Amino acid sequence: MNRYPRLVINAEAIEHNTRLVQQLCRDNGIMLSVVTKGFSSMPKLVSSISKINPIFSDSRIETIKQMREAGINGHITLIRSPMMSEAEDVINNCNMSFHVDKAVLKHFDEVAGRLSKKHDVLLMCDVGDLREGPFYDEEVIELAEYIENDLSNLYLAGLGTEFACYGSIRPTPKNLGVLSDRATAIEEKIGRKLKYISGGGTSSLALVVQGKMPEKINHLRVGEGINIGREMGEIWNAPLEGIRHDVFTLEAEVTETRKKPTYPIGEFAVDAFGQEPEYVDRGDRTRAIVALGKKDVFDPHQLIPTVEGIDFLGGSSDITIIDIEDCKEEIKAGDILKFGLRYPTMLFSSVTDVYKVYE
Ligand SMILES: *Cc1c(COP(=O)(O)O)cnc(C)c1O
Repeated sequence: MNRYPRLVINAEAIEHNTRLVQQLCRDNGIMLSVVTKGFSSMPKLVSSISKINPIFSDSRIETIKQMREAGINGHITLIRSPMMSEAEDVINNCNMSFHVDKAVLKHFDEVAGRLSKKHDVLLMCDVGDLREGPFYDEEVIELAEYIENDLSNLYLAGLGTEFACYGSIRPTPKNLGVLSDRATAIEEKIGRKLKYISGGGTSSLALVVQGKMPEKINHLRVGEGINIGREMGEIWNAPLEGIRHDVFTLEAEVTETRKKPTYPIGEFAVDAFGQEPEYVDRGDRTRAIVALGKKDVFDPHQLIPTVEGIDFLGGSSDITIIDIEDCKEEIKAGDILKFGLRYPTMLFSSVTDVYKVYE
């Protein structure tokens, strides 16, 4: 029996994308960590990636524990600065975690000691996006020296930064140069090389494609560029030849089609979410209702229709209303519509009760 809405998952496509990005990274002396948080690290898909690149990053310890329980034994990094309260789980399940705070680091060192384990840490610093980590050079170097000299159960494995997150800042040779210089300064202070100089995610991969990545950067954490593969071309101006966009397809069923006015009739109040949307009077037009809502994908407008002439009108937690007046194909109740995904729709449809099927 088919159930809708459903997320159709193509493991072969993600294997293809992993191979492609891995080759690009290898050719440029970069280690690749595949970020799986965008699809909640669904174990089946992670297993597929594992055959090619068994090095992963996730932001949540709960999903990482699920990966371990499912038998994923590759290298896993926790890329959200951890809470003190999760130290034990992080040390037991992750090979490495990202850090920014002295007190948290001290706590991690104590817990690692108690568990008789050594734990790798990657120090995150800020070069302008104003997300996590120390911003000033002296602070970065001081924290690195603290890990190296005072915390015997932690190993300073590297230095990293993040872009295009809070501050919408694009990675450039200049700000990645700041990261490289800081890494060099730390290496001089501690008298050894750092293993990972981690220059960001998919947005930084674009610099690799363009041949502008500073040489010292040897590690990237790539999520969207492998899971969805749209942003390199659409946002970062560095399309990756051969990347597939069909790892995830969302299928939803039409429950009604009807010609109706486009401008609501009566006194205006608020919609299902307490908002006051604007409406445009375009006369009578044919529209369809799809059994898929915000509860499934958070923002149905970000779905990519595979049929031409579909326009999103709105909806509620459970339904989406689309304009199909300009559709060449006839659409009727019972039809299944297919949509491509962007990052937010992948993020939500992977955790909500949208039915999951593997192709
Ligand atoms: C989510 C995340 C990434 C991956 O970003 P993409 O744009 O999906 O490649 C990389 N690094 C950190 C710290 C993240 O939180």
